[in-house]
Amino acid sequence: MKLEDKLFQDRYIVDEEHPHLKIKDPAACLNCEAKQCTQICPSEVYTWEEDHIDVAYGDCLECGTCRVACAEFNNIEWRYPRGGFGVMFKFG
Ligand code: SF4
Ligand code: SF4
Repeated sequence: MKLEDKLFQDRYIVDEEHPHLKIKDPAACLNCEAKQCTQICPSEVYTWEEDHIDVAYGDCLECGTCRVACAEFNNIEWRYPRGGFGVMFKFG
């Protein structure tokens, strides 16, 4: 089964009031040449839009990889969603 098909099976309850992911300093991303967050996220949450990173946090799988990937600038504020929100995985 392709990754896209697996992701399609997951369900998300998005916390519109309290996003659990945030770019701390958008200006710092201008100095980040690799922009590895846009490459490493399995759910393609981060995209570069002309002059800033767009964060589609509602698609987050809560794997934590982006925190590690942004180690040089430590520019991603990351926490688990509040109780009752976030991803629900479907197995099988
Ligand atoms: S890896 Fe970090 S610093 Fe670089 S573009 Fe992404 S969020 Fe910004
Ligand atoms: S925690 Fe994982 S799925 Fe969520 S934005 Fe970071 S890399 Fe993407």
